[in-house]
Amino acid sequence: MTSYIREFLGMEKPKGYYTELASEIEKKDAEYHAFTTLNRKIIDCSDGSVPFTTKANICVKGIETTAGSKMLKGYLPPFDATVVERMLNDGKFSFLGETNMDEFGFGTFGLNTEVPARNAFDKDYVAGGSSSGAAVATAMLKYHVAISESTGGSIATPAALNGVVGFTPTYGAVSRYGLIDYANSLDKIGVMARSADDARMVFDIIKGKDEYDTTCAVEKINDEGKDKIYIIRELMEKTEPAIKKAFEKMVDGVGKSYEIKEVSMPILAEAIAPYYIIAMAEASTNLAKYTGYKYGLQYGEFNRRYNDFFTEARSNFGIEAKRRIILGTFIRSESVKDKYYTKALAVRRMIIKEMAKLLNDGFMLSPTLPIPTPRVSDAMKLTSVQNYAMDIFTIPPNLGGFPHITFPYDYMDGMPMGAQLITGHANDYALLDFVSEWEKGFQYKYKHNLGSL
Ligand code: GLN
Repeated sequence: MTSYIREFLGMEKPKGYYTELASEIEKKDAEYHAFTTLNRKIIDCSDGSVPFTTKANICVKGIETTAGSKMLKGYLPPFDATVVERMLNDGKFSFLGETNMDEFGFGTFGLNTEVPARNAFDKDYVAGGSSSGAAVATAMLKYHVAISESTGGSIATPAALNGVVGFTPTYGAVSRYGLIDYANSLDKIGVMARSADDARMVFDIIKGKDEYDTTCAVEKINDEGKDKIYIIRELMEKTEPAIKKAFEKMVDGVGKSYEIKEVSMPILAEAIAPYYIIAMAEASTNLAKYTGYKYGLQYGEFNRRYNDFFTEARSNFGIEAKRRIILGTFIRSESVKDKYYTKALAVRRMIIKEMAKLLNDGFMLSPTLPIPTPRVSDAMKLTSVQNYAMDIFTIPPNLGGFPHITFPYDYMDGMPMGAQLITGHANDYALLDFVSEWEKGFQYKYKHNLGSL
């Protein structure tokens, strides 16, 4: 059992520990941009609690929460999200800051924001997205946990690229109250940590019913183990050879304790289209409220023509947000909705059915990404559709609301690689158990560890 939280709680902290921590982070962050706000008040906190961060789309009372968007500049939530309230009430944690992200969660590499976060292992490489800052902060700080959010892989992808554990629970296991929505039928709040046991501790604090979120209805989480692991042929065919080779080596090791079966499920290779149709349709409705009147950055005088005011206010959206508003609005329009949206919902149902059947008696395992970590300069050259294609492994479990966990399993040219394990609904603890076991034989080395901090 590896719990850095427990280790930290039992440690004698030198005087000025938090002051030094905050200064070290500030220094590092000038290059890595993991944080959007750093809570300097943690300096006064002498009770020895563990620092936690929140992705910048989770409301923290009185702390500027922008969801990575210019549109929400200056927004100070008047309340704490349920997950934040639960972390603070628990007593073992104190709030360290908010972490960088792709605007409203739109992205795979963390580049769709004003100042992108950089990979903790090498700042020429992408941090991954959309929860870029959460993963970089977790790689930088040994004694820290990150509350993060995923719609289609935003916890898994950056966690894999920064060598940390990224746990995305069953849809509806954790309250979304106080989350700035991307796509409500897909959004989940989860955890990034240095170990599965730390992720479990945080999950146990934040999960459970909440009167403010009626979709948070998963009552009992089980730990029922499995002895089979499925690997999907059609997804592996979309993987770059170098990643495939490293992954297969890892699977050989795991194969000693599990029965490994390669199976065919062609529909999963088609999951990207229905995901982006559904995600964009929902995103465009969620973003409709940011007009500068009631929500969003208020621009200039109110007594102007509606179109002038509206256009100016909406121009605060970044390019990817604009793309999704336009496509999402089109997808939902009366004349084409059956052609795209209704069809996407039908494909989603088929995916859920096929996956649920398989996950009934086994896990699904894959790499987290089909390619090695790209350099920032290379990722910037990708078209939108090439970007979306990188979500091939992370989208299926997110479409189905299935819990999944990403864990580091190897290095390639000094950069971390992650694998993703999926299980059936409400079987979240089985994933955490699996990774705890895995960690006994594999401890990741963090060259960007901030010394003793
Ligand atoms: N890359 C995916 C998208 O852009 C997932 C993002 C997320 O999970 N928030 O939609």
